[in-house]
Amino acid sequence: MLKNKYKNFKDIPIYFKIIIIMLIGFIAILTYILIFEKLVIEQSFIKIEEDYALKNLTRTENSLNREVYNLDILLQDWSFWDDTYHFISTKSPEYIISNLVESTFYSSSLSLIYFFDLDWNLIWGEMYNPEEEEKITSASFTNEYIKNPAILFDKGILEMEDSQSAVKKGYLLTREGLLYLISRPVFRSDETGPPVGSMIMGKMITDTYQDLMKERIQSDFRIYNSEDLLSDNKRIIIFEDLMQSKNDYYIEKDTDKISIYKILNNINDNPQLLLETSINRDITKYGTRTMNIFRIGIIIFILMMTLILILIFEEILTKPILKISSFLKSVDTEENTSKSLYLNRRDEIGYLADSIDKFINRINIQKEDLLILNKELKKLATSDALTGLSNRHILDTHIPNLWKTLSRDKSPMSVVMIDIDHFKLYNDNYGHQSGDECIKTVAQILKSILNRSTDMVIRYGGEEFLVILPSTPLEGAVKVAELIQSELIKEKIEHKKSDVSDFLTVSIGVSAINPNEDNNLNLLIEQADNALYTSKETGRNKITVYS
Ligand code: GH3
Ligand code: MG
Ligand code: MG
Repeated sequence: MLKNKYKNFKDIPIYFKIIIIMLIGFIAILTYILIFEKLVIEQSFIKIEEDYALKNLTRTENSLNREVYNLDILLQDWSFWDDTYHFISTKSPEYIISNLVESTFYSSSLSLIYFFDLDWNLIWGEMYNPEEEEKITSASFTNEYIKNPAILFDKGILEMEDSQSAVKKGYLLTREGLLYLISRPVFRSDETGPPVGSMIMGKMITDTYQDLMKERIQSDFRIYNSEDLLSDNKRIIIFEDLMQSKNDYYIEKDTDKISIYKILNNINDNPQLLLETSINRDITKYGTRTMNIFRIGIIIFILMMTLILILIFEEILTKPILKISSFLKSVDTEENTSKSLYLNRRDEIGYLADSIDKFINRINIQKEDLLILNKELKKLATSDALTGLSNRHILDTHIPNLWKTLSRDKSPMSVVMIDIDHFKLYNDNYGHQSGDECIKTVAQILKSILNRSTDMVIRYGGEEFLVILPSTPLEGAVKVAELIQSELIKEKIEHKKSDVSDFLTVSIGVSAINPNEDNNLNLLIEQADNALYTSKETGRNKITVYS
């Protein structure tokens, strides 16, 4: 509809223009916000989350290492203890009875303690599940590894006197679960060599242990061993990916969390375990929620601003323009243009209104002048300059209505046509100037005779006069004619050259009619003219009634 009505943008009402411009601005701002959100805010959220996830990975690794460190400190205490040294040398059961009861394992949350001589022959060793507080009897560890611990703990290093270089530690996956093991050579407490054998301490990395640690370090992590990975398609792929790419870590994102995976080597330095640490994507979640609120806020704000601006525009622009427009329309159509537009504003619209007011004021003054001039012109057009009587043009404006009224009232209408006798001769004899004076005198007489307001005296021609007598029957008109003649005679205007009299005389024709739709004034005048003609023909200075 708009398309048909307004072909060009400039034809559209200002109101719509403002709305269109506002909408374009609105869409532009929203697009900018959306692009900004996608490219900047969302990306920074992801960056912050990834950084945080990486820090979390480091923190988790540090915590795990701290556990190992604590275990190693404990083992150091034992392995540099003279009693241990003595025990390995003598295999005296006193040491076990007084130091290694079941509760020793549970209180230090240890899973395993073993003592070996220099040839890796087992002197003493037990394994417990500290969580369930039970001894692991058919322990695979004992069966599979301790039979030949040199597989695990390189025999060669035990020969070294440097206690630190001889330490071996790492994860070991056993049938009982994942273990963390540390092996240390046993020295005297004064650290004098050579070592007497080795001592191994181990901790089971059970799910419960992991859960406890998670709680302690406030970080979600899990260690997957090779068995776990076998039944976990997703993580085996990640594991293989990390193996192939040799990347330090692998980042996986879903809508709820960011997980970072890292391969952990086992005690033999073989990549065997996968550490997963996860953080919830709270930043994105709360950030997106905040952005949504912000977006809705922006939309509401822009809509309100648009509305307010439209209202302001309407108040300061559209309304005054429409007011000016309707004012100009009223000036154009109404007679009365005396009112003023006065907007009481000092801006461009105010100046425009002031200019229009001044302009209209000028037009008003000109209009008034024009009215006066028109009146004068009308008067000039319908009146005779010499006598001040109306001329025949007055008939066009006055008679049609009068005729209708008389016709309706069934009232008669009479006319008396007067022509000065031998006026040419008068002019010739007394001069044109005197002729004019004479005409003026006759006009004065005619005016003085008629006393009804509806009666009219018209200078019909040069020295011809027409008296119109509405609502007057023929007899009345004849009386008027006689009065004219007698009054003129009384005036005694000398006219020596007239063969009718020594004084000025007139010939008169009288006629009357009952106005109706079929007749008109012209007919009545024609009849009076005929009667006048008869008066002239029959000797002048006469009154002839049309019959
Ligand atoms: P008749 O008796 O037949 O009417 O003779 P007349 O001489 O009056 O003839 P007519 O009516 O034909 O002539 C009118 C003359 O009146 C013609 C003109 O010279 C004179 N006249 C007309 N208007 C004026 C006027 O305004 N002033 C003067 N001074 N003379 C006029
Ligand atoms: Mg004449
Ligand atoms: Mg005449």
